[in-house]
Amino acid sequence: MNSAMQHTATGWWLQEAGGAKPTDPLAVDRFADVLIVGGGYLGMWTAWHLIQGDPAMKVAILESEVCGHGPSGRNGGMVNSVAALVPDLRAKHGDLAARALLDAANDSVRAIGIWCEEQGVDAWYRAAAHLDVETSEFQDAGWDEIAAACAAIGATDEVALLDSTAVAQICRSDCFAGGATVKTSATVQPARLALGLRAKLIEHGVSIYEHSRVASIRVDRAAVVARTFDGAGITAPTVILAVGGRALRIPALGRRLSVASSHIVMTEPVPDVIAAAGWTGGEGITDQRTLLHYFRTTRDGRIVMGWGGGQMAFASRMGGRIEVDPSCAEHAVATLKRFFPELANRAVTHAWGGPIDVSPTHLPFFGSLGPRVHYGVGFTGNGVGPSHLGGRILASIACDRRNDLTRLAIVEPDPKTFPPEPLRWIGGSAIRAALIRKDSVEDGGGRTDPITEAITMLPKLLGMNLPR
Ligand SMILES: Cc1cc2nc3c(=O)[nH]c(=O)nc-3n(C[C@H](O)[C@H](O)[C@H](O)COP(=O)(O)OP(=O)(O)OC[C@H]3O[C@@H](n4cnc5c(N)ncnc54)[C@H](O)[C@@H]3O)c2cc1C
Repeated sequence: MNSAMQHTATGWWLQEAGGAKPTDPLAVDRFADVLIVGGGYLGMWTAWHLIQGDPAMKVAILESEVCGHGPSGRNGGMVNSVAALVPDLRAKHGDLAARALLDAANDSVRAIGIWCEEQGVDAWYRAAAHLDVETSEFQDAGWDEIAAACAAIGATDEVALLDSTAVAQICRSDCFAGGATVKTSATVQPARLALGLRAKLIEHGVSIYEHSRVASIRVDRAAVVARTFDGAGITAPTVILAVGGRALRIPALGRRLSVASSHIVMTEPVPDVIAAAGWTGGEGITDQRTLLHYFRTTRDGRIVMGWGGGQMAFASRMGGRIEVDPSCAEHAVATLKRFFPELANRAVTHAWGGPIDVSPTHLPFFGSLGPRVHYGVGFTGNGVGPSHLGGRILASIACDRRNDLTRLAIVEPDPKTFPPEPLRWIGGSAIRAALIRKDSVEDGGGRTDPITEAITMLPKLLGMNLPR
């Protein structure tokens, strides 16, 4: 491991974005029209859409740390839609519902760019097709089927299948074969987006209380009171729970999620390596492994490499190796240098990680726990684009507006659950270990043994769409 590498929980993006001076914690009891618990993208986009609908609305956010310092400020910055899930969506919800969700998610990918432009927030938003590339002969992410499914619902040009020559025109590596692109995609500097959004909310009068972790929520007939560990509370007729993986602690949602860790490493500026690979279009790239690698360039010429193969969280215990896992960072560095051997003697300067809230269907889900409490969770490593859509959905639900957004297939879907602990952790960890074994054998050109193969098939047999 590179000894000069800074490995922290929060990572480089937040440093580059300049951080944020925390707002005052909640010190006395207050009232709001809508209270949002959790200041990641989902909570902040919900607040944004609420005040766009009614600028006089009193919106408050209670955030346990500093808004945008969780996964929202540390992720890979790939702004993606839901194109890869269209075959599943068609099978479960039909063509019209699949098309409605694809369109809504695509609108959000574009809307984030428009928002940055209009609000003067320089979040390095760059629209560019996303490339999904085969890096071993065994990989098959089903892109033929995905392209056909998108075409069947009328989104004919959303997915393009590429041979190895076309892939090399986007990014050259001896490890890459064919692949596919998804048109409606972009990248951002995630912390600039999160902190830019936070600043705009404060400017528009949203009350943000940081270092204010909610300890309890009491629902009365007329209102909800959320109280922090310091004892102060906010009373509001409507509360939105946007707490990411911490939703594991909410009894009604805990079984509908699991949490696993993802890690990222980043190089020093290497514009020469990027130019030599011909990778100058700003495309985000993923490979077609089951526990995928995701990688991209930055405006200042670095390469970022992430890997979704970290540990599972036991119950709602986060922190520790969920956020800082040297073995995950080591794996990501090795992959970086395998894909781009020109990086052999170049510095990998930063590493960081965080929790991914995984839903059994791979799709986030939104809904209500009674008339006053609403939630959204389960982004499964694809939350940068979909959290904007989630904010639009939750703002509608909070205002009791039923519309095309609240009729999307991700609103109040039939609940799918994981087994209770300790089975979730034991089973999930065993499946992840098998997936890692399979991916690494296949990376080396071999075939997995039948037992490992059988274990990796379990989620599918149980009707779950977990990996990637
Ligand atoms: C390493 C990594 C890489 C990723 N890469 C990508 C990517 O490239 N593209 C992509 O689309 N997605 C990616 N993701 C996923 C993406 O970051 C998330 O889906 C997205 O940020 C979810 O936003 P959120 O608001 O739901 O959750 P969060 O960002 O987790 O925000 C939830 C907030 O709630 C707060 N909170 C929790 N409990 C309480 C409480 N009791 N009281 C008050 N506040 C509370 C937390 O402190 C946190 O700030 C990645 C995630 C990680 C960790």
